[in-house]
Amino acid sequence: MKVLKFGGTSVGSPENMRAVMNLISDGEQKIVVLSAMSGTTNSLVEISKYLHQKNKETARLEIGKLETKYKQVIAKLFTSEENKKSGLKVIKKSFDTIKSFTSGSFGLLGENTILAQGELISTQLFTLLMVENGHKTKLLPALKFMRIDEDKIADTHFIRKSIKKEIKEVGAANYYITQGFICKNANNEIDNLQRGGSDYTASLIGAAIDADEIQIWTDIDGFHNNDPRFVENTKKIDHLSFNEAAELAYFGAKILHPQTVLPARVQNIPVRLKNTMNPTDGGTLISSETDGQGIKAVAAKDEITAVKIRSARMLNAYGFLKNVFAVFEKYETPIDMISTSEVAVSITIDNTQKLSEIREDLGKFGTVEVDSGMSIVCIVGDIIQEEKGFASKVFHALDGIPIRMISYGGSRYNISVLVPTVNKKETLQALSDNLLEI
Ligand code: ADP
Ligand code: ASP
Ligand code: MG
Repeated sequence: MKVLKFGGTSVGSPENMRAVMNLISDGEQKIVVLSAMSGTTNSLVEISKYLHQKNKETARLEIGKLETKYKQVIAKLFTSEENKKSGLKVIKKSFDTIKSFTSGSFGLLGENTILAQGELISTQLFTLLMVENGHKTKLLPALKFMRIDEDKIADTHFIRKSIKKEIKEVGAANYYITQGFICKNANNEIDNLQRGGSDYTASLIGAAIDADEIQIWTDIDGFHNNDPRFVENTKKIDHLSFNEAAELAYFGAKILHPQTVLPARVQNIPVRLKNTMNPTDGGTLISSETDGQGIKAVAAKDEITAVKIRSARMLNAYGFLKNVFAVFEKYETPIDMISTSEVAVSITIDNTQKLSEIREDLGKFGTVEVDSGMSIVCIVGDIIQEEKGFASKVFHALDGIPIRMISYGGSRYNISVLVPTVNKKETLQALSDNLLEI
């Protein structure tokens, strides 16, 4: 069986939902993961922000706007009056839930419950549409099988066991529709897999059911060799290895949620990226095969903070780095890049929730400098690092760019540089112009 995921734009209007219906209904059994309609999760984030700020009036106004939008969708989506009524019932339930948070207190669980409504609505409406059009379709409730543990890591054992049980429970169908993004946590509360998480849902399901293929359908023809939002003349890549795609996704290529590749790689399930608006195009295949050496693509990850610890006294002493890492471990803050010199060590992080505590603890070892507003630009491919002149090609391409840190040699798939975010666009463009095939 295949698992197909359709993103926000793919289900972003009644017309697009109908196009997805026509695309998937070929009689072959499949699991279909849907995102919320485009713009919905952003609106729900905004509404939550107003509720956190106790700005209930503006929250109510935004809720009203979103509800009106969904009423218009329903009017266009269904043919029969009965299904229009069922659609209105679906959205009433979700909007009643959202509105319930406009009185009383509001916390993280409230926010996660609100964020879940986008996917809960899109999947129910789409299932109704499929059934109205005579397709044998069942809704698989993701909250019954998608779970993360205490460390916020997907509980793959639970997912594998529960999804099979759930498929049996809902009964035979050609098409199983389920929600991307949403899950339960270790306390059995509603949670999510972070923004863009529907891709990750699809690969977790693919791994859990030993799928033949995981397909990520989106609004572009595949994985490009640079970020098309910032760079002109990017080119689609026909094939990437799991390792290359994992590095690109982790280092910011928005087309894939950072963790999407991992479950597929473990089970060796090919992942195919496809364009919903141009379904006959082959897209990009991600698999265990490698396509020869060389640089394949670049990506950038924003909102990076660099932390430098300077200590003439301690850096030479063994155990110094261990002590530094222990601080980041204590505050559960992952490190992305690291570089050292005789007197200082620089580290980058993207989670700054505990930055002031980290700064204070590191202060015991030396002086601490913090630079925010940085981006990691990651150059990915199957790179033979012994190749003569390779590093100089990269440095030549980046001539004139203020590079703050470099990471080279960590794996054969990645060279990363840290640059101020204000220089990100020119860095990406320079790499496209000098290093990539266009
Ligand atoms: P969806 O809503 O379908 O999940 P996303 O917006 O999350 O879609 O991802 C698709 C978008 O990712 C593209 O429209 C494109 O702007 C952006 N993107 C960023 N980097 C890349 C890349 N290297 N290749 C293709 N698309 C990319
Ligand atoms: N709807 C969620 C988001 O916008 C998940 C996703 O689209 O993948 O982040
Ligand atoms: Mg996405």
